[in-house]
Amino acid sequence: MAVAPSLYVHVPFCASRCAYCDFYSSTPSGPALESAAGRWLRALRTHVEFLASRFGRDGFETIYIGGGTPSWLPGDTLAEALWLIGRAARSGGREPTEWSLEANPEDVDERLIDTLLEAGVTRLSVGAQSLEEEARRLSARRGTAAETLGRLEVIAARWPGRWSVDLMFGLPGQSAEGLAEDARAVIGLGAGHVSLYELTLEDGTPLSRAAASGTVSLPDDDQRADHYEAARSRLLEAGFRRYEVSNWALDGQECAHNLRYWNLDDWLAIGPSGVGNVASGPGAFRRIVNAADLDAYCSDPSGSASESTVDGKEAAFECLMMALRTSRGLSLGSFERRFGMKAMDAFGPLHDRFPGLVRLEGDAWIATDRGLDTLNEPLVDALSSIERSWAGRSPQPV
Ligand code: SF4
Repeated sequence: MAVAPSLYVHVPFCASRCAYCDFYSSTPSGPALESAAGRWLRALRTHVEFLASRFGRDGFETIYIGGGTPSWLPGDTLAEALWLIGRAARSGGREPTEWSLEANPEDVDERLIDTLLEAGVTRLSVGAQSLEEEARRLSARRGTAAETLGRLEVIAARWPGRWSVDLMFGLPGQSAEGLAEDARAVIGLGAGHVSLYELTLEDGTPLSRAAASGTVSLPDDDQRADHYEAARSRLLEAGFRRYEVSNWALDGQECAHNLRYWNLDDWLAIGPSGVGNVASGPGAFRRIVNAADLDAYCSDPSGSASESTVDGKEAAFECLMMALRTSRGLSLGSFERRFGMKAMDAFGPLHDRFPGLVRLEGDAWIATDRGLDTLNEPLVDALSSIERSWAGRSPQPV
């Protein structure tokens, strides 16, 4: 059976806004949430049907429900959405190989776990971010550290599938010792996957305004490096492997869905602000961006999306950029099959030019551990090389 596309589902609701976040979501509650979630669900139904008629009914290889906060959906809306998504995923007689859902720990209880298991969800991605009280307060995270830890214990006791925890570093009010302790706690509870993200200050967020006005001070470069090293050491000691810039896993616990993004495989997206990517010819992709506006999305889910083609040197460079993020690296053979040009001709000998950052191993360019932290340098060089090498040619598959 041929590999089907994957599916991303965006849930645009949260209980409250975290101070650093610029993802598309709003914070209705009570009847307003019921009503908005009902509209979102009806739009989802229309959109799934549209995508099936356009791209086929072969089901989905993997599913990722993110947001926003999927676990914040009213229980019956969530159950219905899962049923709808599960039915579409299984059309064509396949069972998705992985089905992830993002949850805020504060929402996790026995009822949510039962709903997810009944639908066939196989993997939980839990946004803890930090178990330090001051870091949570300054980031406006919902719930106290003790409550979050308590819910992680419920997951450890009741969730039979794989689960991942998001932790952040570089948060105001955070300490290296605290982050080391957080990593130790989630590993001790049995999470097999940890996403370790560095805080980025996004324009227009409350945290960026607070940092600019001096009301909140952020860790400096040395402190951020200490934070990272503290978490990294705990993960390595526990047998975790860094398989992508920000993602660590025990063997067999890698996120199959995210690997498909980094490999630029096909995936469709439903929900406002979701982005899909579908091959549209040799070395070319169709990028479909859903409206980042709940009203526009709900009034016409597919018609309000914008589409563009990514091809030629842009597609080739994106392929390199995504592949170098992962420990698999870029397969030179598959690059040539995809783009009809040798990666070495397109980008120059990256492993020779940046020996400490990119190595050639078998058929692949792989970023070293240091390279994963400083991909910018080889990528800027690769971009200027491809501007020259690609001039005047069009992709020719071999
Ligand atoms: S819960 Fe997640 S999506 Fe919602 S505001 Fe916080 S970081 Fe953003």
